[in-house]
Amino acid sequence: MSKFKLGQEIVAIKYQPEGKFKKGDEFIVDGLSCCNKCGLPCVYLKGLYNNVRNIHSACGGRFSGREMFAESDFAPKQSFADSICEKIANDVEAEIGEV
Ligand SMILES: [Zn+2]
Repeated sequence: MSKFKLGQEIVAIKYQPEGKFKKGDEFIVDGLSCCNKCGLPCVYLKGLYNNVRNIHSACGGRFSGREMFAESDFAPKQSFADSICEKIANDVEAEIGEV
């Protein structure tokens, strides 16, 4: 089961070895799929429409088709922002606590 929804904003949490994206790059989920070999969930990204020879680094699976990327390379953008908000809230609380 995919942890993302179609059209969801996500942020890369890893550097892609071929340089397609780097940590912090933001994308929109354009489709959901999975690795043909190990079944690990993968995503299609808006703006990346090339047909390529996919290589899934986690299992070594190779298959042709629209390029897709392992879900584990991304986090939902919303929860990333939420975690920053939480951190700020905690910092404020800590400051107030010291007064
Ligand atoms: Zn795989």
